[in-house]
Amino acid sequence: MSTDYKKSWKSCLDIIRGELPPKTFKTWFEPIVPIKLEGSVLTIQVGSNYVYEYLEEHFIDLLCNALRLVIGRDAKLEYSVVVEKKLRKSETTTLSSASTAKAAPNILDKGLKDPFNIAPEHLQIDSRLNSLYTMDSFVEGTCNRLARSAGGAIALNPGGTAFNPLLLYGGSGLGKTHLAQAIGLEVKKNFPTKTVIYVSAHIFQTQFTDSRLKNEVNDFLHFYQSMDVLILDDIHDLAGKTATQNTFFHIFNHLQHSGKQLILTCDKAPAELLGIEDRLLTRFKWGLSAELKVPDFDTRKEIMLSKARKDGMEFTPEVIDYICRHVHNNVRELEGTMISLLAQSTFNKRDMSIDLVKEVLGKTLPLQHKEITVGQIQSVVCDYFKLEPDDFHAKTRKREIVQARYLAMYFCKNYTKSSLASIGSQIGNKDHATVLYACKVVEDLKDTDKKFKVHIEELQKRLYAY
Ligand code: ADP
Ligand code: MG
Repeated sequence: MSTDYKKSWKSCLDIIRGELPPKTFKTWFEPIVPIKLEGSVLTIQVGSNYVYEYLEEHFIDLLCNALRLVIGRDAKLEYSVVVEKKLRKSETTTLSSASTAKAAPNILDKGLKDPFNIAPEHLQIDSRLNSLYTMDSFVEGTCNRLARSAGGAIALNPGGTAFNPLLLYGGSGLGKTHLAQAIGLEVKKNFPTKTVIYVSAHIFQTQFTDSRLKNEVNDFLHFYQSMDVLILDDIHDLAGKTATQNTFFHIFNHLQHSGKQLILTCDKAPAELLGIEDRLLTRFKWGLSAELKVPDFDTRKEIMLSKARKDGMEFTPEVIDYICRHVHNNVRELEGTMISLLAQSTFNKRDMSIDLVKEVLGKTLPLQHKEITVGQIQSVVCDYFKLEPDDFHAKTRKREIVQARYLAMYFCKNYTKSSLASIGSQIGNKDHATVLYACKVVEDLKDTDKKFKVHIEELQKRLYAY
């Protein structure tokens, strides 16, 4: 019986496999794990909300047909995401309608089901932590070192460090939620009996309003005051909400006095927060306010590599480099670009080339970055090889000058929107075929010649810093 669901899913996969290019199948379907088959409901586990949404958006018909063929007309599909080692039911898809895709399972922002009615002695709270937001997957860089190490200290001694509260602040998509949750997960790992709760300020506010309407404010207070670790995300959302702030103030004081840990996140520094009462702001200063800054180029690269590894995506070093050079506002954008690229290349059967990246970035990041110019690239390359600009254009076949010219052409092709003809005319007055040839030579050498590879990497760094 226990193998029924595996067999059923395997049969579905056999049908689906025949309908898709191998790469698409491998990317989206191979990682899925079947969990159970109850009646005509098959549950599958997917790695993230994103995968769930993607499957629903792009493959719903294919999935419907396969399931109907294998399980029958009433077949239903349920998705699960892993939360804290146990499976949490996320969403049911009724196969007759793809529109259920709109109701994405946002495990972070769904309200708890009447959590305040649970008697404390039976309190088995769902911490609402996303098991994917781990400390291991949170790449360290100078942009987040202080926050990350404070988080590490808290995880070993929640409530017992000077970092209470810990206030993580910074712009959108810089990892506040990820890090705050990672600390929560670590605490749970180190102290399984401690109660940890993650809640967004928005949900907190809704729950509070609800509890007022139902005359259950005391239950609300009691619930949050009984936590060992309270993670309140996006506290700027409480701006102007005086009654909620007031209640949070009581919870805050209670937890502080009992040596419990508070972790807060916010989109700006406490001093710039408008609409939050002074008495709360003062309390935030009792602990540590740590900023999450925009990651530098090397950290962006590492984040991208780590995500690509985790999700089994393959990008060439040039593509990674190009993306990291152009997408520099926040990590969410970086992830978005990787996903768009993957989607574009699987669905339109396009190679993951710099051209495709330029296309995708052109759509997602209009006018956001300054393009480097052919002249700027030439001057960086000249400088690196200690050449005079005149040498660069001299009619010579001296090896080091030819090499520098080829490299400049290669970077111009990959890093600017200039045409090959225009690049050629600006670098040594060559034609477009010479530029193409130069790029091919560079591509070949960079895989076979170690010294050459070092030149490329060093130049990439300098161009980025330009
Ligand atoms: P914020 O809460 O600051 O808006 P998030 O925590 O939601 O940002 O981060 C946005 C995305 O970027 C998430 O998918 C997160 O995993 C990823 N991310 C941010 N910083 C890092 C990092 N240092 N290492 C790995 N992933 C990161
Ligand atoms: Mg967030």
